[in-house]
Amino acid sequence: MKKKLAILGSTGSIGTQTLDVIRHLNKHGHEFKVHSLAVKGREDFEKLAPQIDEFKPEKLCIFNEKDADTFPFFNGEIMIGNEGLIELSKDPEIGAVVVSVVGAVGIEATVEGLKTNKRVCIATKEVLVAAGDIIMGLANNGNGELLPIDSEHSAILQCLNGEGLDNIKKIHITASGGALRNWSPKRMKNATREDVLKHPNWDMGAKITVDSATMMNKGLEIIEAHHLYSVPFEKIDAVIHPQSFIHSFVEYCDGSMIAQMGKADMRLPIQYALTYPERYPSLEPETDFDEMISFKLKPMPGKKKFPCFYLALEAGKIGGTMPAVMNAANEIAVYAFLNKKIGFGDIPIVVKEVMGAHKKYLIKEPTLDEILAIDIKAREFAEDVIFHIQKDKRGIKK
Ligand code: MG
Repeated sequence: MKKKLAILGSTGSIGTQTLDVIRHLNKHGHEFKVHSLAVKGREDFEKLAPQIDEFKPEKLCIFNEKDADTFPFFNGEIMIGNEGLIELSKDPEIGAVVVSVVGAVGIEATVEGLKTNKRVCIATKEVLVAAGDIIMGLANNGNGELLPIDSEHSAILQCLNGEGLDNIKKIHITASGGALRNWSPKRMKNATREDVLKHPNWDMGAKITVDSATMMNKGLEIIEAHHLYSVPFEKIDAVIHPQSFIHSFVEYCDGSMIAQMGKADMRLPIQYALTYPERYPSLEPETDFDEMISFKLKPMPGKKKFPCFYLALEAGKIGGTMPAVMNAANEIAVYAFLNKKIGFGDIPIVVKEVMGAHKKYLIKEPTLDEILAIDIKAREFAEDVIFHIQKDKRGIKK
């Protein structure tokens, strides 16, 4: 039987690497069939055209109806916008969906995929961060499956294999430290877009590379791990491991530590999510032991260096709608930084202010609609905060 897949966000970093893995697995006797591909904007079309040519999907989803005639050679069905994305995820033809789109639509696609009993492989962080309780309720009580596409969570999944949760003493999520790991907190405040986008170990999209430099990424990953593995926040921490060779490790009550190690290559966790619980030879199985000889582990620096990490933890512990608000504010702040509207040091200021304003409106057990509505409001408020930061800066210059 062919395993039919939908790839939401096929031209991004995870999408293109997922297609690499499928190409590789199919060359070695597997039968993964790309049923549908979805992209966001016109800027993705240049990469999408060869994907259509090679993988011959039956359905496409693009954002704007006006662009539907861009692919005259495509004779399948073209779906439009967020509704189209959700339809692809629900499609009874497919068995699995890879969710690697940016934004709240990833939440809806995940919900619909789980409700229709799919294997949902999630790379989009905000899915579990913003709506973890709802998503896990669906994953644990239905016939759908949720598999992480993230090196850390894939590592934890492998370290937990067969162990009882009561035996866990601590889950240690490793962090490379990001592009600014050796910078002082004072110097970090004025880091430029170019400084931040030079990630030492991983080749990823711009947004997540900024989140690695602020360490927000690790905060989001702790919230995700809390939901995925039903482990309380007190039992999860992050440690700095500059070599990115250990992808995470679990410490058990008897003092044993089980770590998952491997190359810093996203195609490994992608392949594991697709083939779980089975393993197959990967694209680059060779290991360079020289890389392993001198690995180091260091505790996470304090609030002064990585304020975003601690804001994410605070939001996770508050729960309810707060993680969604924190995540939305961070996303807007990161794009404002990438567009040179605010400085690197302004990112945590925006997140903190939006979280502070939300405290009195917090909903402890929100519905999906409430989360989606609050996500939009938090984004608008974050834009407002950014506008005032810019105004203040212009004022100072005069
Ligand atoms: Mg990660």
